[in-house]
Amino acid sequence: MYRGYAALLDLSLFNHKYTVRLYDHDGTFIGEHLNDSVHSVVDYDACVQEIQGGIHSYFTTANTPSIRQVYGFDAYMNHSCDANAYFPLVSRSAEIMAYEAIAYRDIFIGDEISCDYATFDYACNGHEIEVCQCGASNCRGQMLGFRNLSLEEQVFIMHLCEAEILDAFFKESKDAVLLHSDLPEGLDVVLQSGDNHLIATRRFEAGEEVFTNTAILISLEDVKKKFVLEFNGRYVLLDNMNHFIHRHQYVESVGFDSFMDHSCEANTTQEYTDNAVYTVVADRTILPGERLTCDYGTLQCIASSKFVCRCGASRCRGVIES
Ligand SMILES: [Zn+2]
Ligand SMILES: [Zn+2]
Repeated sequence: MYRGYAALLDLSLFNHKYTVRLYDHDGTFIGEHLNDSVHSVVDYDACVQEIQGGIHSYFTTANTPSIRQVYGFDAYMNHSCDANAYFPLVSRSAEIMAYEAIAYRDIFIGDEISCDYATFDYACNGHEIEVCQCGASNCRGQMLGFRNLSLEEQVFIMHLCEAEILDAFFKESKDAVLLHSDLPEGLDVVLQSGDNHLIATRRFEAGEEVFTNTAILISLEDVKKKFVLEFNGRYVLLDNMNHFIHRHQYVESVGFDSFMDHSCEANTTQEYTDNAVYTVVADRTILPGERLTCDYGTLQCIASSKFVCRCGASRCRGVIES
């Protein structure tokens, strides 16, 4: 929709006040506002750098961080828990940051443009909305910054967040761990009926290698934590029982491959070449759009999970123990 800019200004010093003047397209003066905590946002990039440099932690110093992002006309944009736009960062220097304003869905003439404050405001110094009145069907009831959302809510909006918000979150959080996985070419993960499924985006012939993957090994102590998987800009909260392969000494996280479905007549088999590296081969022709499947019974997972199989194969075993 447009490229916006915010000035990065030091507002922590006593008596520092800045006036922001607004002009329309042809330079006519519209009005002005005195920037304050309502019209500016704490700059977490600067704060994260301070933490890394060991200078101090902004989590314990009450609301006087050194740098704030001061917006022009965008300072008037309201929050919505179901925003119609998002704002990826384009560039930043010591004095200014540039961002792109992207419509998240169709916006019509007269519609209010809204953003989700939690995607760029971590602790919400000065922006708290105690009772949110955005009117969205998924309204969270209040807006107290990204830090105060539930983990499920945080994961749901992570793909829209500024990088420094996620940096701050994973540095501060003791129980949430970010895992990264690269989706190989020829594959995609699609959301169908509320679940993620690994599908082929090209044809694979019988006997052809579909991909080789390296599992991340997690100690039995760490597995109690919450794991968020990032792949291709998407974030999914993993489920200990359903997304991990449990071994005697450790647990394997197989990244994007966590979303491969079971079938009693699977179209792939996997073979380990190392305790963390395995290759998946097509057992028959796999067409674009088809789900990739393996037989969970062959995974030798030691955590017994039982489920009723609905794979639809003529030789379906019914109840699967994996
Ligand atoms: Zn709301
Ligand atoms: Zn089955």
